[in-house]
Parts: sequence; structure tokens; C-alpha cells
Amino acid sequence: ARKFFVGGNWKCNGSVQQVNDLVSMLNQSTLSTDTEVVVCPSQVYVQGVSEKLRKDIGVGAQDCWVQGNGAFTGETSADMLADMGVGWVVIGHSERRGKGEADEEVARKAKYALDKGLKVIACCGEPLESREAGTTNDFVFPQIKAYADVFSKEDWANVVIAYEPIWAIGTGLTATPEQAQDTHADIRQYLGEVAGADVAESTRILYGGSATGATAPGLSAKPDIDGFLVGGASLKPEFADIVNCQG
Ligand code: 13P
Repeated sequence: ARKFFVGGNWKCNGSVQQVNDLVSMLNQSTLSTDTEVVVCPSQVYVQGVSEKLRKDIGVGAQDCWVQGNGAFTGETSADMLADMGVGWVVIGHSERRGKGEADEEVARKAKYALDKGLKVIACCGEPLESREAGTTNDFVFPQIKAYADVFSKEDWANVVIAYEPIWAIGTGLTATPEQAQDTHADIRQYLGEVAGADVAESTRILYGGSATGATAPGLSAKPDIDGFLVGGASLKPEFADIVNCQG
């Protein structure tokens, strides 16, 4: 069985005060032990959150550099994240791919992070044009293939996939449970082809894109939706409802 997983991607949000408030809120929330929970603050708040947050919630970064330490101004290496005890890192979010990260670079970065002992939330997802043209899989499968080309079988045990249709991110246009299930099932089948049946069966595929406390129960009832990567709603008390949406 795939353990339900809910990640909170706080994106470029927060202040010391707001982050402390969020941590307090999470520390006081009743969260289902059947759900693995990870929150991803901005890099500057990662350490503080790690120190103050209850230990049954994991902490992740939102991106990292593609290789190790060196003269790369402004970057944060996976080596540093691992050194700080950060457990997870989001790789390949569309808000970063949009800045020019191609599938191969995204995959290489993910592999580097895995090699340093981090777990990876590996993102994929299509733009509106692909969805409307009926070519979602043509867009998403190469993203998955790029990951599969560089991940070993052992790596996959430390990876969750986040399927985040770009048209659903921050728009309020949540994919319907049927739309998301169809694509999740296609991704799982394709994963079987490129990574093996066991990997396809065991790898969690999260949905991301305007997930809310209201939409999470319907989505999570679908067989191939194993959790969520939550943006906006992860900054609100509603996040606990998403964590607990299967109850
Ligand atoms: P929203 O939940 O704000 O649409 O963001 C989703 C997302 O991009 C999570 O990584």
C-alpha cells in the first residue's frame, strides 16, 4: 500500500512572524498518522522551521543546485541541504522549469540530490495548450522518462511524483477527480514501462494545482491519487483538512 502523502509548498511566501505562526498552527493541529506530511518553506526559513516544527512533519526545500558546492552565486546545493538535516527537496516545479530548466537538467538535479541522501518530490505537468489539444501525455511522459533515465530502482524508493497541471496551479481551476485520475493512471502505466512494474506500483503520485480542503476528498478517493502537493492552501489551517481528507 502506498502511504498517503501531503506536501505543503509555501513557495516565496512568509515573514519570520508568518512562518512562526504557521509552525505553531501545524504543531497544534491534529494530523492523521496515516498521512506522511512534509512542508517546504523558502530556503531562508528552512533551518528555523526544522528546529521548531514537530518531528513527525518532514521539512523540504523548494529547489536546489544541480551539482555540489563551488562558485555558483545564489545557489543552494543538495550537499548543504543534507548537511542541515533537510529531508526532502522539490525538483522540477513548473515555476522553475519556466525559467528555462529542461527535462534533462531537472532529472540530473534530482539524481544529484538523491545521491546526497535527500528524498525528492519530482514534479511534472502540462500547460493549458497541451490539455486542450489532448496531448497531455506527450508533454508529461518525456518529463517522467528523463527521471527514469537517471534514477536507479533504489532511487525510486526515495521519490514521490507530483503531477501538477500548470493550468491548475494558483488558478482555482482544480482538475476534476476524473481528469486527475486519468492522467495519474497514465503516468503510473508509463512508469511501469520505463522503470518497472514494482516501481509503478509502489511510487506515490501526488496531485497539485488548487487543491483545497473542499476538493481533496473527491480527488483522494481515486485509486491512483496518493496525496497532494499543496500551494496556497498550505498557508492556511485548511492544510490540516487536506492531510486528514481520507478520514
Ligand atoms: P496551488 O495549490 O497554490 O495551486 O499551488 C500548487 C503548487 O504549485 C504546489 O507545488
